[in-house]
Amino acid sequence: MIRLQKMMAMSGVASRRASEKIIEEGRVKVNGKVTTQLGTTVDPDKDLVEVDDQPITCVTEMIYILLNKPSGFVTTSNDQFNRPTVLDLLKGLSARVYPVGRLDYQTSGLLILTNDGDLTLKLTHPKHEIFKTYLATVEGTIQPNNLEKLTNGVDIGDFITSPAKVTLIESSPYESVVTIDIREGKYRQVRRMFEAVGHPVLELQRTNVGELNLSGLSEGDWRNLTDAEVAYLKAI
Ligand code: URA
Repeated sequence: MIRLQKMMAMSGVASRRASEKIIEEGRVKVNGKVTTQLGTTVDPDKDLVEVDDQPITCVTEMIYILLNKPSGFVTTSNDQFNRPTVLDLLKGLSARVYPVGRLDYQTSGLLILTNDGDLTLKLTHPKHEIFKTYLATVEGTIQPNNLEKLTNGVDIGDFITSPAKVTLIESSPYESVVTIDIREGKYRQVRRMFEAVGHPVLELQRTNVGELNLSGLSEGDWRNLTDAEVAYLKAI
């Protein structure tokens, strides 16, 4: 018998801590009955555990995927508008995986997916946020003063961004191409940063998450992370 929150973490639902919150919210049923008790223990082979009415199964094999997400896919598993989801690109996987953080519907690029809830929590926790590199094509000719603002931090409404590394790749009267490295992961952060300096994003691709990159992977394709890559992420 194991604790309910442990089974949930082993099923990839969420980290142990986040699972406790889900239990307290009354979203978990054991053998058809809602339980909000954190001390509840279950037998993963015999008990039926459901989260939001979806049965979960305990996986012992951890799966770590690197996907090159195309634009036009959502990173949530259920979309209210029925748009394609990144899980549609992962047909044939033996276990359910969950995206680590999110990319907007229109953003393409590097997305990690896993059923390791503890690693997901770690990588998305504000304390550990790992740097992510984006290649942004933005409207207009971006001037040095605006590159400096993006570098130092800009007010995006509810938040002032931390220092970022910003590099101008090329510029024309119509658009500029810029790479930007950030550690934070606020909602639509990169788009809001460029909007704040008057250069709305036309196209956005995440090219790196920490030391991981998209090398050799076409849009829509995925691969398993190597053991060394998993060890690197766990060591962060
Ligand atoms: N910042 C954004 O604005 N969008 C993303 O998808 C990721 C980071």
